[in-house]
Amino acid sequence: MPLPHVPSVALNNGTEIPRIGFGVFQVPDDETTTAVAHALDAGYRSVDTAAVYGNEAGVGRALAASGIARDELYVTTKLWNADQGYDATLRAFDASLAKLGLDHVDLYLIHWPAPARDLYVDTWRAIGTLVADGRVRTAGVSNFNPAHLERLLDSGGLVPAVNQIELHPGLQQRELRALHAAHGIVTEAWSPLAQGAVLADPVVTGIADRHGRSPAQVVLRWHLQLGNVVIPKSVTPARIRENLDVLDFALSPEEMEAVAGLDRGLRTGPDPDTLD
Ligand code: NDP
Repeated sequence: MPLPHVPSVALNNGTEIPRIGFGVFQVPDDETTTAVAHALDAGYRSVDTAAVYGNEAGVGRALAASGIARDELYVTTKLWNADQGYDATLRAFDASLAKLGLDHVDLYLIHWPAPARDLYVDTWRAIGTLVADGRVRTAGVSNFNPAHLERLLDSGGLVPAVNQIELHPGLQQRELRALHAAHGIVTEAWSPLAQGAVLADPVVTGIADRHGRSPAQVVLRWHLQLGNVVIPKSVTPARIRENLDVLDFALSPEEMEAVAGLDRGLRTGPDPDTLD
């Protein structure tokens, strides 16, 4: 069977990012290699890891073993909070690159703003240096609330290409999505399935039954129709494939509206204003 072709979305620096990537949060390093290998076999070309996940090496092993050309892959990693600051960022990036076994990453994100540290503007400057060096193709942020984003934009450096935020039917992030749209920033949804918490909702299961699809596929399709990039995680081969099989059906405007009604401030992860 031919592999699915995952469409990409254009970023504000002239590059593009696949609309669906593969997340590896909470996957132990030794299991990550197998999970990423399954994902690459299924047709994913984008992988989302982070220094703090402790599995960059596992991702790197799977990429190397795949034999897939580097320019067909899209690799994201993230700078951990304890490594914020100009010099510390440069050192942490070198360590991530070595673990991944790569000479550049496609997307490098500040993992959390960690506002109590007050270092994200210096950190962003360091990432600008890495972009200028060609070792980071695209610079972005994660978990930036409007105030953090505005401050970064006011600092006069690069405009982030991406903000990767918690986003799913239970937490729809309308204010941030509008701000992103105003600045040409792509919204990337982490925990796009709310780690499973929205999959038993009757609105979701009702739409799934109508389309003969799984609840996860309905939620991922909803994201794509909103314009989000998604990075669902699974270590289960059938789910890994299922989560990519969302390109040949569409939710109606009424179904999109019904899912919009599920927004209820449901956070599965930490609050960006307070996480240090
Ligand atoms: P997800 O919303 O992707 O949900 C993952 C959970 O859903 C797992 O328990 C998985 O089970 C299950 N699942 C996956 N597919 C299906 C399916 N088709 N049907 C039923 N259940 C399914 O949660 P994550 O928190 O992992 O978020 C995704 C990615 O986002 C992360 O892996 C990471 O890369 C990124 N992330 C980024 C953060 C940040 O701060 N920037 C924070 C959190 C996540 P199983 O694996 O057992 O199959």
